[in-house]
Amino acid sequence: MGLRVVVVGIPGVGKTTVVDKVVAGYKGAKLANFGTLMLETGISMKMVKHRDELRKLTVEKQRKLQRAAASRIARMKDKLVVVDTHLFIRTAEGFWPGLPFEVVRAMKPTHLVLVEASPDEISARRATDTTRYRDAVTSESLTEELALARSFLTASSTLTGAPMTIVRNGHGMQDEVASSLVKMLMGATK
Ligand code: AMP
Ligand code: MG
Repeated sequence: MGLRVVVVGIPGVGKTTVVDKVVAGYKGAKLANFGTLMLETGISMKMVKHRDELRKLTVEKQRKLQRAAASRIARMKDKLVVVDTHLFIRTAEGFWPGLPFEVVRAMKPTHLVLVEASPDEISARRATDTTRYRDAVTSESLTEELALARSFLTASSTLTGAPMTIVRNGHGMQDEVASSLVKMLMGATK
């Protein structure tokens, strides 16, 4: 069994940028973008057209897509699978876990990585990302969400027994963050 890294972080921390660089920097790595997998099923079932519509569905519908994505990831057998996903989703029904027990158990992570940035960096990234329909939230709620992410992370680590790493993705730090993660993962197979 290869390595399976689950990378999480609230929207706008620069998670996808870091994940893509980790995949590019590790030979034989495979990207699993959880939102993209959910979107593919959602589009084929005519439930949504855009990834930012997923979180607007009822939780019941999101859960079906979530389980389908998790079982596709569970079947990947690459040397390193890097999962780009979320610890929780801000839905109309409340904060909903992105990694409930059955989902995280199916994916069998060997490592958990939380990407963080400051509330100012997150707001700036959300405002300039024109490819997305990001929720605009106050600096206070970003601070709350960052704290919430750490508590969801400890729950996932406890459920899976996988070690957790918290990385700070400050402005212009993406390459450094990605290479430190690649180095850590190379060390894990020595
Ligand atoms: P992203 O591009 O990473 O922001 O993901 C797009 C969307 O996919 C998110 O806004 C969520 O609606 C959904 N998504 C991603 N990961 C999960 C997950 N683990 N559980 C439920 N929904 C998820
Ligand atoms: Mg992303």
